[in-house]
Amino acid sequence: MNKSIPVYLDNNATTPVDPKVLEAMLPFFKEHYGNAASRTHSFGWVADEAVEIAREQIAHLIGAEKREIIFTSGATEAINLALKGLLELNYSERNHLITCKTEHKAVLDTCEWLSRHGADVTYLDVNKEGLIDINQLREQMTPKTLAVCIMIANNETGVIQPINEISEICLKKQVYFFTDATQAAGKIHLNVSQPHIDLLCLSAHKLYGPKGIGALYIRKKHPHVSLLAQIHGGGHENGLRSGTLNVPAIVGFGKACELVAEQSASELMQIAELRNWFEDSITQGGNAFVNGSKKMRLPNTSNLCFKAINSTEFIKAFPQLAVSTGSACTSASNEPSHVLKAMNLSDSESKNSIRFSLGRFTTAGQIETAIRLIGERVRL
Ligand SMILES: *Cc1c(COP(=O)(O)O)cnc(C)c1O
Repeated sequence: MNKSIPVYLDNNATTPVDPKVLEAMLPFFKEHYGNAASRTHSFGWVADEAVEIAREQIAHLIGAEKREIIFTSGATEAINLALKGLLELNYSERNHLITCKTEHKAVLDTCEWLSRHGADVTYLDVNKEGLIDINQLREQMTPKTLAVCIMIANNETGVIQPINEISEICLKKQVYFFTDATQAAGKIHLNVSQPHIDLLCLSAHKLYGPKGIGALYIRKKHPHVSLLAQIHGGGHENGLRSGTLNVPAIVGFGKACELVAEQSASELMQIAELRNWFEDSITQGGNAFVNGSKKMRLPNTSNLCFKAINSTEFIKAFPQLAVSTGSACTSASNEPSHVLKAMNLSDSESKNSIRFSLGRFTTAGQIETAIRLIGERVRL
């Protein structure tokens, strides 16, 4: 193994672009450089056709229709559009939003902004396993509740929320259900009709596509969901998100979704096996434990709390391992993770926790290396 390149175990922060995705994108940087909104020549038509194929590939991955997909610059923008777009249109009648303390900062910061602009936001607790309490959700619903925003899978722990039950309650109360599926996509099966989902966001760079492109699924039927646009301009994307489309990125996003939709169950099982081998090896001696539910969890994520080493020391001790102390977005700050805190970990437990996230290109050899390196420093 090349000593200078660390083992990449940070796939929840971002994934490498799949070579097949890159290959699909390249012609759209070179000969097919048209603007997808140009209607007067073949450069525009070719670009537009490619965008529509990608839209179909993305819709297919989540069981949606093509016209229900809006391109954005990523999940963060899609989250802003969904939450602000929904609240701003409905403030006068219903201004209550229910979310959860372990959501991604893109959700929490948007909610915080909304609460300073007239929204009433409830933050659900989670238990030690990282799961919300369905009864608490039921109890917090009021006639003013407009939407529930709960992610499918958590980026730090991989914990999967009880989406079926959440969806059922929302349907019954006629409350919109928006879910951040950025980490779930490509790792577990998704379908916006089973269970019923009204709004859902995705990001290409978490599923072997390029950075800077994402999508918002907006239900068009039963019910038709309306949003207020947040970016104004040429009226692209049905007026919901103006701006010239990033055609190469969109083509790559589509290809990435196609690859993920076609991936075999065995590919995911292989990732889970490597993750379990890694996790069992590290935790067997009782000097590290798993944060979050082991049962309701993505196949690729392992968030471990070490007894005798804090994450700053860990990162320093293992330059050969590319891992993270939480989410990439907050690892710059030295604050203990808000996710682990909500799960009732102490500050010191939180500071001793490391996220390992595997991916399509993680090899058994790399996992063996990681186990050996950690074993040399931490008694396993
Ligand atoms: C990465 C991530 C985001 C942000 O996605 P960007 O496309 O990078 O803006 C939002 N939510 C979750 C759960 C994520 O993992």
